[in-house]
Amino acid sequence: MKLINFHTHKPQFNSNSICIVPFNVDNFKVGDSFQYGTIGIHPWKTDNSEVDLWLEELKNLLKQKTFIGIGEIGLDRLKGAPLDAQISIFEKEFDIATEVDKPIIIHCVRCWSEVMAILSIPKYRNLTKAIHGFRAKPEIVKSLIEKGFYISFGTSIIHSTPELAEAVTIVPKSRLFLETDDTETHIFDVYDAAADILDTTIEELVNITSQNFSTFFGSNLP
Ligand SMILES: [Zn+2]
Repeated sequence: MKLINFHTHKPQFNSNSICIVPFNVDNFKVGDSFQYGTIGIHPWKTDNSEVDLWLEELKNLLKQKTFIGIGEIGLDRLKGAPLDAQISIFEKEFDIATEVDKPIIIHCVRCWSEVMAILSIPKYRNLTKAIHGFRAKPEIVKSLIEKGFYISFGTSIIHSTPELAEAVTIVPKSRLFLETDDTETHIFDVYDAAADILDTTIEELVNITSQNFSTFFGSNLP
């Protein structure tokens, strides 16, 4: 039984999990070893004069089989370049995702309407997309689901607020992922918490997220 960890910066290679590690263009080195990787320009790194070069590099790296998706990318109202600049970079990354036909993993902090606006642009509507580390209100999860998003929940569902637990129950099982992000928490504990909230078993959640892993990454999986 392998637990899919949808987004982890601290992969636990010895554990019984399958880790998807997000790399940043500026710190990826050929020869880095990882099980499954995605790559992008983190919104916190957008305040950098190298961004245009990074976008070129990102496109080249994503054309290779090495990376199964693009991310994490996104918008953050609290950190990174001014929002206008972040939006322009984000859109360029959407163009790259469209060109290479790979799914996107989004980081969003207090920019839901901006993310929804970009996703409403017809050429981006059909992209396969996920929000990682979801912690916002249940109403937001509803509109994300309507737009076709997958939703990944992290360690905040352990000792969850009632509101976040409600958000977990709203997500259809076919759109659910679990992750540990930048924490040292074992992914098992996140599955355990989700099983509790959803009144199901860890085994069932493993089946669900494994199925979603295949659907989300599709033909990009080696
Ligand atoms: Zn992250």
